[in-house]
Amino acid sequence: MKKIEHIGIAVKDLEKSNALFKQLLGEPHYKTEEVTSEGVKTSFFKVGSNKIELLEATNSKSPIAKFIKKKGEGIHHIAFAVDDIKAEIKRLKNEGFTVLNDTPKRGADNKLVAFLHPKSTNSVLIELCQEIKN
Ligand code: ZN
Repeated sequence: MKKIEHIGIAVKDLEKSNALFKQLLGEPHYKTEEVTSEGVKTSFFKVGSNKIELLEATNSKSPIAKFIKKKGEGIHHIAFAVDDIKAEIKRLKNEGFTVLNDTPKRGADNKLVAFLHPKSTNSVLIELCQEIKN
């Protein structure tokens, strides 16, 4: 794994949280993106070479809606940048981790992503992400 790419935070109201994180970080978000397949609207903030991703549910079946219902707002996942996501998925499965999607899927921010089940990672949802090269 190369570095922490971003930290994902589940929020109820993206617009309000965009304003709050702008105050906190001193810079506005640099993009918003909707990932229809995941039922989320996201916004991204730069913090040095890392990012903060805010996630708001767009429907009640969204994983973010379920998370907020269960735990409230807060840190949802930690994302690590990887060079070769397929190789990492294979490596982590061999190490005994539960990978939620064996086939990487398209996430926000031009990334291929895969998630590890929190039950295998001390209750922290882990995202692997690999930049899609065009
Ligand atoms: Zn993420």
